[in-house]
Amino acid sequence: MTLEEMKQKFQDWKFAASAYQMAITIISIDKLTVAPPAGAAYRDAREAYLSGELFSMETDPAIAELFRNLLASDGLTDTESREIELYQKEMNHILSIPKEEYVSFRALQNKAYDVWHQAKLNSSYAEFEPVLKEMIAAKKSLYSYRSSTESVYNQMLDDFEPGMNMEKYDAFFSQVKERLVPLIQKVAASRQPDTSFLHLHYPADIQKKFTEEVLLPYLGFTHDWGYQNETEHPFTDFTCENDCRTTTKYLEDNVVSSIFSTIHETGHAWYMHDVDPAYDGSILSFGISSAMHESQSRFCENYLGRSTSFWEALYPKLQEYFPEQLGNVTLDAFMKAVNASEPSLVRTEADELTYPLHILVRYEIEKYLFAENGSVDHLDELWNAKMKEYLGVDVLNDQEGILQDVHWSSGDFGYFPTYALGSAFGAQFFAAMKKDLDVDECLRSGNYRTCMNWLKTHIHQYGCRYDAPEIMKMATGEEFHPEYYLDYLEEKYSKLYELD
Ligand code: ZN
Repeated sequence: MTLEEMKQKFQDWKFAASAYQMAITIISIDKLTVAPPAGAAYRDAREAYLSGELFSMETDPAIAELFRNLLASDGLTDTESREIELYQKEMNHILSIPKEEYVSFRALQNKAYDVWHQAKLNSSYAEFEPVLKEMIAAKKSLYSYRSSTESVYNQMLDDFEPGMNMEKYDAFFSQVKERLVPLIQKVAASRQPDTSFLHLHYPADIQKKFTEEVLLPYLGFTHDWGYQNETEHPFTDFTCENDCRTTTKYLEDNVVSSIFSTIHETGHAWYMHDVDPAYDGSILSFGISSAMHESQSRFCENYLGRSTSFWEALYPKLQEYFPEQLGNVTLDAFMKAVNASEPSLVRTEADELTYPLHILVRYEIEKYLFAENGSVDHLDELWNAKMKEYLGVDVLNDQEGILQDVHWSSGDFGYFPTYALGSAFGAQFFAAMKKDLDVDECLRSGNYRTCMNWLKTHIHQYGCRYDAPEIMKMATGEEFHPEYYLDYLEEKYSKLYELD
């Protein structure tokens, strides 16, 4: 085969694989948003079949050979080589897994999601425990086919954040603990701002109107490339740069919950949207790592979305939608309330300061399950004990305890630590952005897009072209330093709580 023929074959293969991937993605979004539950068994069986077909495509020995031949030729650009190397890496992860086992794992994921969802509604860890046990066994088995000498948990960590492992996360979290635990204690001992007005009755339909008429337009998330739906556990997904789907959840006793989750999810969507369009349909079109993705979403949610300048633009409008609830609440009081820090039970509702400790709890439990072969029997008790140890809170039910997050039901172990790491990346990007832009002026004047353009130029456009540490260096001029994050939190909360 000539080089041109090989390249054509590669393009055809990518197109076919991306067609299957698109169908699977849409089915999954549909399942998590609007699909009627009674049709689950029918849909899940066919989704698992499509996943199996895609799996066959992605592990086709002829394609493995094509990758080798292309890489051995000298007719590739650096970007083409990078692309094929990434496909090859993915292929090596799944190549030795028997197809039946892969398909049954996909079916298990679908089942586990439904069991988790019901167990969460019933607030009963006992209902989830057997399927969690199955999921852990299935994941261990899948990793057993790889040739890596690393521990299973290190491989899981590396899958979500290439280059990371327990040693590096342990070092990161020990710095986080050392600097933040005393700060959290000082804040907890201070006078708390009034947050009661955030928890009055806020009808979901009016929240939705505010989101669609004010918030999404401000964020630049428009219908020509994106769509927002509702779900139990907000997420974002995409098929190509111009088809990004976000989700949110409206809580009638918390007006800012859906607002911050919307800002967060559209942060993910901007990353998906602003990747170089030449990468559409390719492995290069994805975000480079989970922490990099979370750095973007949490950047939007916290570094931009919880700033006074952001709300100088939006708060008067929010007051118009909720005149009875917020008409007499000043912007200053609102800002203090949305930035209040108080140890709490639910990660997605946690404030910026206590958030990383929620992650630490999950990280330690995952280490216990995989690195120490711990048992899932009564894992809820371990959860509750760790929440008490790190956050000082009593978990009263599993719904707000171990069942709050969806991740373990889909077998995504090793993902959580990237949330904390991503927050820390975000602080370093924020410092770099502020050198180039008057961020406050952009937000105040409704030029949110200017901030997104900075992220596009320095991060988003590259997709998977460069590794996260390379992007960090290109965007900020230096390697990752957690001090940016810890300094940011110390400065912000010392000021908010008037600590000396
Ligand atoms: Zn996220």
